[in-house]
Amino acid sequence: MGYVMQLTDYPWLVTPYQQLVAPILQQRAHHAFLLNYVPGSGEDAFITQFAKRLLCQQATGSEPCQKCHSCQLFAVDNHPDYYQVSCEKNKHAIGIDQIRSMTSKIYEKSQQGGNKVIWIKQAALMTEAAANALLKTVEEPPTNTYFILSDDHNHTLLPTIHSRCFGYFLPIPALDVSVAWLKERYPHYNDNELASALLLNENAPLAALALLAVDKWQQRKQFCATLLAILPNNDYWSLAKTIDAEQFIERINWFCSLLSDALKAKQKAGRFIINRDEVPLVRLLARQQMSQIIQLYDLWCDARDKLFTVTGLNKELMIYNVLAQSELVK
Ligand SMILES: [Zn+2]
Repeated sequence: MGYVMQLTDYPWLVTPYQQLVAPILQQRAHHAFLLNYVPGSGEDAFITQFAKRLLCQQATGSEPCQKCHSCQLFAVDNHPDYYQVSCEKNKHAIGIDQIRSMTSKIYEKSQQGGNKVIWIKQAALMTEAAANALLKTVEEPPTNTYFILSDDHNHTLLPTIHSRCFGYFLPIPALDVSVAWLKERYPHYNDNELASALLLNENAPLAALALLAVDKWQQRKQFCATLLAILPNNDYWSLAKTIDAEQFIERINWFCSLLSDALKAKQKAGRFIINRDEVPLVRLLARQQMSQIIQLYDLWCDARDKLFTVTGLNKELMIYNVLAQSELVK
């Protein structure tokens, strides 16, 4: 993201944060939280602040005091009673060993004499065995111990986990609020561009901010310009040299959003289109038959599913294959 932001940089999270902290101030907080979020809506800053407040030993209000020994240890990433569990690099799941290693530590006395906090990131990646091991601990937790499980709202966890946790969905701001927030950071974009960047990211402001970074946005504009040029001649093949294998999934997402916009345009539902800054391209795509648009959509989405689920695919070959087949769609 380039620079670190504080919770106060996300005005839409201030009230939700206070709501979540209020029961803690009244000493009647749940000890296990399940936070779902839209990626890029400020979730990391939100949870970090929440964890810091749970560990703070002097604050009386909703904010951590920033001064006590606990807050200082937290600020330098060295709090002995704060545990983060996440999927390790080059792994696809959070295993039972990671959960066991964490639980063996939390049954010891808290080192700072206060609360203990465990944050399990991308909790849906826990294997069933890991989730069950965690459940045992959540059901009979050590004293003064808080669990925060977090994940993307599209991922699902075991129902038993849901039933043991206090569930909370991090809200995202209304589109016009986000557009105004982005405009303060990127004044040179127009409202249609800002709205498109948001709609391409489920309205999550930070994810839109990342897409609007100059290089990334330029890539998207270039991709759209190339499509505009090649579509009249059905010359998908010439897209090959513009698509890098590592960026293929992103291009698929962009193209599929354009195709779904074309379907909306055909059904006179143009006010719902996502790519508001690419209306001529959407109109051009919408000149095709409904069945052609759907075939293209299925073809590209299918490639995305394979990229996510099949390991060791030759991505270059996949790109050539998808482009060659796109030309055959009738
Ligand atoms: Zn403090």
